[in-house]
Amino acid sequence: MRGASFENQALVHAIAEAAYKAGARLVEVSWMDDQMELIRFAHAPRDSFDEFPKWRLAGALEYAERGDATLSISGADPELLARQDPELVGVYHSTMWKEMAPYLNHVTGNSMNWCVIAAARQAWAKKVFPNMQPEKAAAKLWKTIFQMCRVNTEDPVAAWQEHIRNLQARGKYLSQKQYAALRYTAPGTDLTLGLPPGHCWASARELAKNGVEFTANIPTEETFTMGDRNRADGIVSSTKTLNHGGVLIEGIVVRFENGRVVEARASRNEAALQKIIATDDGAACIGEIALVPNSSPISKSGLVFHNTLFDENASCHLALGRAYKFNYSGGLELNDEEFAAVGGNQSLIHVDFMIGSGAMDIDGLTRDGRAEPVMRQGEWAFTT
Ligand code: ZN
Ligand code: ZN
Repeated sequence: MRGASFENQALVHAIAEAAYKAGARLVEVSWMDDQMELIRFAHAPRDSFDEFPKWRLAGALEYAERGDATLSISGADPELLARQDPELVGVYHSTMWKEMAPYLNHVTGNSMNWCVIAAARQAWAKKVFPNMQPEKAAAKLWKTIFQMCRVNTEDPVAAWQEHIRNLQARGKYLSQKQYAALRYTAPGTDLTLGLPPGHCWASARELAKNGVEFTANIPTEETFTMGDRNRADGIVSSTKTLNHGGVLIEGIVVRFENGRVVEARASRNEAALQKIIATDDGAACIGEIALVPNSSPISKSGLVFHNTLFDENASCHLALGRAYKFNYSGGLELNDEEFAAVGGNQSLIHVDFMIGSGAMDIDGLTRDGRAEPVMRQGEWAFTT
């Protein structure tokens, strides 16, 4: 278990018990403490933020290489680092990405079954429900999380499985279509994204190299693929706040030419956006193209969660940076050069930003130049 907070101790204990009952041989917890991060930012030497404890990587690799299941629990204060020096925050994050890259390769390559869930915590809940007392806000956020994950239905497991089947049917349809490109139009957006021949659309269920079928995110509402890293042209505007490691970036407008970002603006925290794009060569290219209907329960809730696990599932989104090899047919067998040669993007980062709305139309462009409706006004425009 990664990212566990002391505030969610009861949940962590319940999960550990359930894991042992399900046959786990060892359940290990890597605890996270927001306050310790803030103390470091307040008191550590300014030139020490590019230092990283190597054992963290070694520990994570030990499990990943064995194919051990990993559960990450998100729920930190979305603005934890908002008042810190953006320069330091940038160094802190890029150091973490860089040092943990070998482990992240295992995650994106599905070496093991992994999952990200969310647990309500007071600081986060206060951002979602700013007018409530922290304790009440946390209780309300728990209730909301249960709704989004369909836990409030009579048979949550059956409801969840039906949801996964529906998502997979969308993915199958789109994979068979093998569109050459997608064209997005919405206020502030006119963007064409190339799709390489052989791309495949994935959704809620994947097969890990350890042989276990798994769902990587709960909740999940997306059907997604990789783009051709050399073919993105036009302008796209974000429709929701991007929370990047505790810094909220708003009003993103990005222009692409030949697959690369050539201009990027944001109405809030533009410097943080520029830093993301400058991380490395692949950070200026698109790694993920995800479709989410505007009527998804998360979108319908009308809430802004300031947490990517929820907000990305409320909206069509794109990710700058690393593409997933499983989004290319046979991709898990390709080495990095082969993957790049078919248009797969590589980067230390993978940052999702939200672009969907009820005003968005998306066409699939066929290889012989026809346009077919994929989404109209934010909703699926085909039946499976
Ligand atoms: Zn996504
Ligand atoms: Zn993503």
